[in-house]
Amino acid sequence: MTCRQVVQLLNDYLEGMLPAADRQRVEEHLAGCEACAAFVGQLRASRRLVARLAEEEVPASVKQELLTAFRNWRPAGLR
Ligand SMILES: [Zn+2]
Repeated sequence: MTCRQVVQLLNDYLEGMLPAADRQRVEEHLAGCEACAAFVGQLRASRRLVARLAEEEVPASVKQELLTAFRNWRPAGLR
């Protein structure tokens, strides 16, 4: 599995939506790829931040800005 494929699956992976076979392939890739492992850590932190913002009174424009940055973000050094 390439980094690009892994990145595309990460949201489903973090949601627990991936079939077991895909999940295992993602985990195998993460175990051997520093860039993607670091990206997953950032993604988890971002998701926590977004979840927290959702509970607080944050202007919709700010939330939208964060979500856009989050969606467009990709790890450096993709294979
Ligand atoms: Zn990778």
